Amino acid sequence: MKTGRRALALSAGLLLVLGLAATGWAGEDFVFGGGRIKAGSLVSGLLPVPGPGGQGTSIPYTVIHGAEPGKVLALVAGVHAYEYPPILSLYRLKNEIAPAALRGTVIMVHIANLPSFQKRTVYYGPDDWKNLNRVFPGDRRGTMSQRIAAALNEEVVGRADVLVDMHCGDGNEALIPYTYWMISGDEAFDAKTRDLALAFGLPHIIIDDTRGRDLKDSKYLGNTAILRGKPAVTTEAGFLGRTDEESIRLNVRGVLSVLRHLGMIDGRPEPAADPVWIDKYEVVTSKWSGLFTPRVEMGWFVRAGQIVGTVTDYLGDWKEDVRAPFTGILLYVIGTPPCNAGEPLFEVGRVKEK
Ligand SMILES: [Zn+2]
Repeated sequence: MKTGRRALALSAGLLLVLGLAATGWAGEDFVFGGGRIKAGSLVSGLLPVPGPGGQGTSIPYTVIHGAEPGKVLALVAGVHAYEYPPILSLYRLKNEIAPAALRGTVIMVHIANLPSFQKRTVYYGPDDWKNLNRVFPGDRRGTMSQRIAAALNEEVVGRADVLVDMHCGDGNEALIPYTYWMISGDEAFDAKTRDLALAFGLPHIIIDDTRGRDLKDSKYLGNTAILRGKPAVTTEAGFLGRTDEESIRLNVRGVLSVLRHLGMIDGRPEPAADPVWIDKYEVVTSKWSGLFTPRVEMGWFVRAGQIVGTVTDYLGDWKEDVRAPFTGILLYVIGTPPCNAGEPLFEVGRVKEK
């Protein structure tokens, strides 16, 4: 009898679990960072990342777990931690998104690369001098950047349905706002990411078919999400390590618009009405280490062969006039003097004709 009752209770429990799995929701907890988060609540914390030789770091996050069912949206700031407007926008949004009014779940990564933020480094992490956005999917037993990438891949990409990797011009980059729409080759999937790119609302969208298709060498956070079947875009709004209100506002508005687009909060999205589509882009790198002096400004139109800037050596002697490879918009240009062989000087984008 006892056994029979237990079997009955077990099967009822199983039915309940099956029922939950079928609907995807019954106000259940959201599991993140080893903890359980109740529906209709907000939790902030530090995701530990054990480092090589015991020197670890952590990833500051907030999870807002809505009172109603919906998608799981990951918003990641600070993969490059000298890129402040995305970071500052998420702290604002943390106080603007009410758990009771949210359908689904928002995972905010406030500062993905905390060692870089603490040491104020551009491009690279201070522990291994690797670019976090080139080492995905990461390695739990690798260097610090590889370990951070692995943690983000497992805990954030793994838990998300949709991801926005929020960047801007790094501390040395004068940059105009744009979004990378990364092409996977699957038309239906690419239509979703296109809508996501439009929803974020930035005025330029790069049609980017240059990313690798191997998940074991996905390199970029956004590309990692896409290769795992999760729509993702990389956004760029802000420049030169500044914290200007306009750039912060672009990021806040973009996130709120994406939340509306995904049906996670009430209101109409504010997609880019008629963006400039960029169908080809090139990052021109330096052949020399020395100083770079730009001759034009971010957002200017340059023709093929036009001088974008001049490189001089450490003694002040001319080395090269660096020219635009084709006619297009200067999406970003290095705005501080140091330039290093192999590192970017500027990015030109070709405007897509109708
Ligand atoms: Zn960046």
